Amino acid sequence: MNEISDSLKQRFATIADLDAASAVLSWDQQTHMPEGGLAARAEQLSTLSRISHDMLVSEETGALLEETGNTDPTSVEGAFLRVARREYERAARLPSRLVGELSRTRSLAQGAWEKARTNSDWELFAPHLERMVALQREAAEHLGYEEHPYDALLDAYEPGMRKSQLDELFARLREELVPIVKKLPREATGEEPFRGNFDEEKQEEFSTRVVTDFGYDWSRGRQDRVTHPFCTSLGGPADVRITTRFDPTWFSYHFFATLHEAGHALYEQGVDPAYTRTPLAGGASLGMHESQSRLWENIVGRSREFWNHYQPLFGKTFPQAAGASAEDLYRAANVAYPSEIRTEADELTYNLHILIRYEIETALLEGDLEVSGLPGVWNEKTKSYLGFTPRSDARGVLQDVHWAMGLIGYFPTYTLGNVLSAQIFEAAESAHPEIREQISEGRFETLLGWLRENIHRHGRRYEPRELIERATGRPMESGPYVSYLKRKYGEIYDL
Ligand code: ZN
Repeated sequence: MNEISDSLKQRFATIADLDAASAVLSWDQQTHMPEGGLAARAEQLSTLSRISHDMLVSEETGALLEETGNTDPTSVEGAFLRVARREYERAARLPSRLVGELSRTRSLAQGAWEKARTNSDWELFAPHLERMVALQREAAEHLGYEEHPYDALLDAYEPGMRKSQLDELFARLREELVPIVKKLPREATGEEPFRGNFDEEKQEEFSTRVVTDFGYDWSRGRQDRVTHPFCTSLGGPADVRITTRFDPTWFSYHFFATLHEAGHALYEQGVDPAYTRTPLAGGASLGMHESQSRLWENIVGRSREFWNHYQPLFGKTFPQAAGASAEDLYRAANVAYPSEIRTEADELTYNLHILIRYEIETALLEGDLEVSGLPGVWNEKTKSYLGFTPRSDARGVLQDVHWAMGLIGYFPTYTLGNVLSAQIFEAAESAHPEIREQISEGRFETLLGWLRENIHRHGRRYEPRELIERATGRPMESGPYVSYLKRKYGEIYDL
């Protein structure tokens, strides 16, 4: 049995430092940088990512990894090696010509996508997407797979996950959720308490109180304002920042986005500090990360117990809504109806937006679907799952930037997060049946403690599949999520 050498550790620590420096620069770009800084910042970011990538794929890294031989796979060192080798191999398998072409195609496609969306003109984007799909197919062949080329792409976001598992998951969700969504009201009803005049400072005061109650540690974080909120870790659990947005006429726009990012941040703040500057830092996968943001945003933040506790504070903070009961606020937090835009969709219909994208991107990769036919297929699927046809391609097939960025295999991680959030919460609740009651008292330490112990502290120590089994006693399953949705929306909408 071998030990990991100091030179290998040092190498991955340097790569982690370079990546953290990039994260600081891009955090600054999105929060404080004046517009004039854009060109210089793009150069700085590209230099840092080139140095980090070169260091990862260098012969020296390859030699150090090879020389290490085998370590006990169940030890921390074994996990270090598993993740380090995986990162090295994924990067080293792509020829530098392909990496360059992907990055060129990505920037051209993003520019074309923006124009195409503004003009709602699919033709402007189609040739770029065609090129991108061809390159992704080529990348999948280089990366390698056992069952399906999609697995090779998916693996970047969800290590170990297969398309065959997703097919099963989405088939179940389609079967269970499409009939429920068909019975929903066709437009938003009951959202009045969250619409009107909401002073931004008061909004921030209220959400800060909630996020602090959740357990977000402000001595290791901060919050800034951005266009598209995100959470970023700039040096392990010691510096985990969240960002937010405001709409003075719509409370949910700020509030639930803030709870979502705080959920990501609680995960990052809870990772074992010993993993900082190693490949084991950060969350186990995108789906696992999303399970934490959705758990705090939806399962906690949109629960009846939550609004029972926060209703008095809400009424005091926003006197115009003082007449709204806890039940009114609970219903306002859970307005569901089929809508066009994924990012504004409610918990229930959201998964059907992902289902549409999943079916399309797998068909594209298989060559079963021509890029030119995509708007038609998009509209057909929207009609059959959500019950309407988008008003325009801009509000339909062109609404998301992901495919322009080459992110094929990424969308399903949103739904994986939803599914896992319910399974994880159920496990926490069965270990501590008092959790729900505590939420109605504004206490979250038992829930957070359980998440810390069973998920957060492990970072990337375990593969997502193993982590979920260790934490919940079973493999990933959609049952808890489907019954959560049916119970909740069945009652609210009398379905
Ligand atoms: Zn998220």
